Amino acid sequence: MTHAPVRDVVIVGGGTAGWMTAAYLTAAFGDRINITLVESADVGTIGVGEATFSDIRHFFEFLGLAERDWMPACNATYKLAVRFEDWREPGHHFYHPFEQLRSVKGFPLTDWWLRYPTSDRFDVDCFVMASLIDGNRSPRYLDNRLLEQDFVEGEAAPNTIAEYQGAQFPYAYHFEAHLLAKYLTKYATQRGVRHVVDNVVDVGLDERGWLSHVRTAEHGRLDGDLFVDCTGFRGLLLNKALEEPFVSYQDTLPNDSAVALQVPMDMDKDPLRPCTTATAQDAGWIWTIPLISRIGTGYVYARDYMDPEEAERTLREFVGPAAADVPANHIRMRIGRSRRSWVNNCVAIGLSSGFVEPLESTGIFFIHYAIEQLVKYYPAADWDLSLREQYNSAVMNVMDGVREFLVLHYRGAKRADNQYWRDTKTRAVPDALAERLELWESKVPDTGTVYPRYHGLPPYSYNCILLGTGGIPVRPSPALDLVDEKAALAEFQAIKDKARSLVRTLPTQNAYFKRMRDG
Ligand code: FAD
Repeated sequence: MTHAPVRDVVIVGGGTAGWMTAAYLTAAFGDRINITLVESADVGTIGVGEATFSDIRHFFEFLGLAERDWMPACNATYKLAVRFEDWREPGHHFYHPFEQLRSVKGFPLTDWWLRYPTSDRFDVDCFVMASLIDGNRSPRYLDNRLLEQDFVEGEAAPNTIAEYQGAQFPYAYHFEAHLLAKYLTKYATQRGVRHVVDNVVDVGLDERGWLSHVRTAEHGRLDGDLFVDCTGFRGLLLNKALEEPFVSYQDTLPNDSAVALQVPMDMDKDPLRPCTTATAQDAGWIWTIPLISRIGTGYVYARDYMDPEEAERTLREFVGPAAADVPANHIRMRIGRSRRSWVNNCVAIGLSSGFVEPLESTGIFFIHYAIEQLVKYYPAADWDLSLREQYNSAVMNVMDGVREFLVLHYRGAKRADNQYWRDTKTRAVPDALAERLELWESKVPDTGTVYPRYHGLPPYSYNCILLGTGGIPVRPSPALDLVDEKAALAEFQAIKDKARSLVRTLPTQNAYFKRMRDG
């Protein structure tokens, strides 16, 4: 029975990674597999991770959950973009929106904008979303209809991230991490997942060096065939028990610490901005995530340039009086990835697998992507090595790709007003990015030279960061002097008209979520 599937799964860890994995595997395989999730009541979850990337929609769809089912329970809001503040110079901002970039006559609209800049805001000129965010708009009408569909993927919505390339759903979510874990706990346990609250005190290996069981303080041995390590930065199973090395990204991404605050807010008074904000600071950047009853905020910084006390003081000053009485959560981040995320019969998902700083909210995306790959390459009793290898290479490529994209934010930032920012211009960059930077310095990035996955087609994310951060000179393609520009100029006008009409007709986020709350 070498092809008999593996049926007994033990997940260690009950943070976002553990519960997303339990819920998704249950939705995928139902009672054909047995899942036990063990989490410690003593070791807390990381307590952050509340902004997502637009693929997350597929996660909830896969679970069969509509927004009205889970959003109110998780104090969730909409996110239409990341807003970058002060990365170019003080007072400047731009959006990296979830919106497909249009092409005209084969050239991305951002190329046309470089040749015919209709204002000094490429984001407002090339994307409808920028105006919607400036107007605090919800992407849905009060009757729950999604904004007009002409720049949203059509009927054949993809079911997996792999199918998703090129399509762009216009928003993601913010949610309270502990409420999501609670919601998914209920979802998974109601569908048969066994939930054990206990400390794992030992990990058992068999004579081959494969995991045989985990030992808990009060519930004894938990045996399984497949073990999923969701123990966060500890990497209890993969890194500690199996001694899989960790490949650091710290040489290219030096931020290694964060301090976070949960600041109360009142949706009846304060505007709910439909985006995550990343505000550049002296030794990193501050995130601002608007939720229904509070703001999640934190300073991501490099200890080589700032100590934790100064980071906390800066964050409190940034937030103002509302931060006075809230406790700070100081976090040491492990930046990089495990060499392999799946070793023998142990798969690490979440922070135990890898993490880059949360600048583009990719932590939960990594989790979702990894779970999809696990379902795709799910093992049988013969533990075919090629399944593990394909899984590991998929996970590795995604993390390495995101790393390159994040490095570009710092390399591209015009800001160079202190040692931290000056060093971002001279620090080593990953090889593949270095090659592209060389190309871009002589011409505008095109679809052949940007990272083609997960950034839409044309792959607009790189274009947004280059044009927004402003430190790397790019110029329009010379070919545009030879192409009639009328259609491109008409497209800019169409975007302006569409944005105006949507801002007029869509409700604000506050109005939308008050309606959801009050029924
Ligand atoms: P954790 O939340 O650390 O959970 C670990 C679990 O393991 C806990 O349940 C714990 O009890 C359990 N455990 C540990 N040891 C034992 C033991 N011995 N026995 C039993 N159980 C044990 N991602 C995003 O997508 N968007 C963001 O905006 C974002 N912001 C972030 C900001 C910061 C500063 C950081 C550090 C991360 C951020 N992330 C973000 C990443 C995101 O927080 C994580 O990917 C996500 O929370 C998953 O964490 P986890 O479940 O892997 O680990």
